Amino acid sequence: MANVESFDLDHTRVHAPYVRLAGQKRTPHGDAVSKYDLRLLQPNQGAIESAALHTLEHLLAGYLRDHLEQVLDVSPMGCRTGMYMAVIGESDEGGVLRAFESALRDVAAHDRPIPGVSELECGNYRDHDLAAARAHAQAALDAGLKVQPTVLIGR
Ligand code: ZN
Repeated sequence: MANVESFDLDHTRVHAPYVRLAGQKRTPHGDAVSKYDLRLLQPNQGAIESAALHTLEHLLAGYLRDHLEQVLDVSPMGCRTGMYMAVIGESDEGGVLRAFESALRDVAAHDRPIPGVSELECGNYRDHDLAAARAHAQAALDAGLKVQPTVLIGR
């Protein structure tokens, strides 16, 4: 199997909530594509409930794009402690941190229907929890987000 970056990260030596540049690749035409680890909960100390994570996915998909150009994708982590975000170009971590904070403020204040929640638009439209999603966003803001350098296992 191909090597996977996140399996090299020492998950015991990071401090959530944080933003981390997880990797960067270049297309054959030379454009950079950057992948970010947007961590809300400390690994192995808890997990965001499925419904809340699903709602965070729907809300951050729009709100991160409001604050950051060239967002390619925002997807929940299977471990349910955060999201991955892919961005075209070489956005700096500080800029991503500010965009993530702004998007989390938008989530924490979101008091309208969740976008994309219908049988037509979503693959599990009953599985949402806006109150819990807002609470997770506020908790991360209250804890204070920072830029987390990558700490490799054994280094
Ligand atoms: Zn959905």
